[in-house]
Amino acid sequence: MEDRLSVAVVTFGCQMNKSRSEHLLHLFLQDGFSEAQEEEEADVLVFNTCAVREHAVTRAVGVIAHLYHAALQRRGKPPCVVLCGCMSELLREELLVRLPYVRVLTGTHNIDELPSLVREACNTGERKVVFSPPSPHFTERGYRRKGRVSTYLPIAFGCNNFCSYCVVPYTTGPQRSKPHDVILEELEEVVREGFREIILLGQNVNSYGKDLGNPQAFESLLEDIERRFGGEKIWVRFITSHPRDMRREIVEIVRGSRILCPYFHLPLQAGSDRILALMNRGYTQKEYLQIASFIRERIPEAAIGTDIIVGFPTESEDDFAETLRVVREVQFEIAYTYAYSPRPRTKAAQLKDDVPQEVKKERLRVLNDRLREAYLHRLRVHEGRVTEVLLLEEDGELIARTRENLRVFLEGGENLRAGSFLEVRLARNSQGKCIGIPVLCRDDGKN
Ligand code: SAH
Ligand code: SF4
Repeated sequence: MEDRLSVAVVTFGCQMNKSRSEHLLHLFLQDGFSEAQEEEEADVLVFNTCAVREHAVTRAVGVIAHLYHAALQRRGKPPCVVLCGCMSELLREELLVRLPYVRVLTGTHNIDELPSLVREACNTGERKVVFSPPSPHFTERGYRRKGRVSTYLPIAFGCNNFCSYCVVPYTTGPQRSKPHDVILEELEEVVREGFREIILLGQNVNSYGKDLGNPQAFESLLEDIERRFGGEKIWVRFITSHPRDMRREIVEIVRGSRILCPYFHLPLQAGSDRILALMNRGYTQKEYLQIASFIRERIPEAAIGTDIIVGFPTESEDDFAETLRVVREVQFEIAYTYAYSPRPRTKAAQLKDDVPQEVKKERLRVLNDRLREAYLHRLRVHEGRVTEVLLLEEDGELIARTRENLRVFLEGGENLRAGSFLEVRLARNSQGKCIGIPVLCRDDGKN
């Protein structure tokens, strides 16, 4: 037993990568590897990488180099370094020049083979470089680590949208959806295991099933989930929704459900119609606003989240003002903002990256200020509401979230532990944070 190889998986990037890393670790453990206590002690260091922005690549290369040297020093011998994921799919052999000690290099389509590739590399001393075409089916699942309250359940992988700035379709391949019945079986299993929050994942979750020949398959899936699990004490979320595929029926199904959470992550990317067209997003500002106001109208307490890019090629101050206009109107509860970064192979990379860095930075600053202002406005809708929060452990910290995915800072409350639900009254503190004051149980017989 002692000479089992230990493995650590280090993850960069999106939720899909986090979910895939869980799957990957599970495969290694199943194959007889053990989990390393610390990354620096691991015999095998697996890096599941991201390529969505240049910054992600630079950072990953730095972290990999740092961890390799730290492990070499701690162990007195080199660890077996394995690269997989979007950065390696995109850059391939180029990485072997930048990181010459990599022993196994694969992309996004070979992760099931990794344990055997690592064994071969360890046994023969040879370097393994294996890239395959996308497999026609998607069967992977997030494997939940013990004690967790929340789990990912990937329902589709890949993307056909080819937004002009985005590398994801090139690194993940076309969308492949998991069969409906398999998803329901997996859900059954995680519910039985006691998970409270289940996050359905897809690069474009609401186009689920288009590749199986059913463009409305996401609606049927949600309806079946409600039918089968509606009586359970669980919360089911889904990310990320593409605004173009955000059909009104989806909003109605969520509205009528107790377990499907009213949080819609709808990346806007830009507010100007000209930029949206250049981005190949497939909707106009007006269409985006229509779907956002439909959500606000049908589910007034629902939360809307977004991703926004500033400084796309040719973005003028007027174009940027259109983004701010949407921010003012929608009042997003959650937002992730990025400076445009040209990516290899994408269509936008052929355009001149002509918005200077300082301008991108300044637009980000203004955008983040406006998002914050709008959020504080929007908080008024939530203030005073009595609602349930779920206690979750995120990065080792106990945090509370509402069904709408609002992060709530608890004021008071005893015996709090991850996995429990708690009724709170939402309020706002002097720093503008959303706080939750536990509501005491009134039905205590004393009255
Ligand atoms: N599938 C999701 C998210 C994909 S990547 C979607 O359709 O929105 C996550 C976010 O990264 C994107 O929403 C976008 O805002 C940002 N992003 C992607 N490519 C980028 C690039 N080249 N430069 C800057 N931000 C980018
Ligand atoms: Fe990238 Fe667009 Fe696909 Fe999202 S929908 S992953 S932004 S190409």
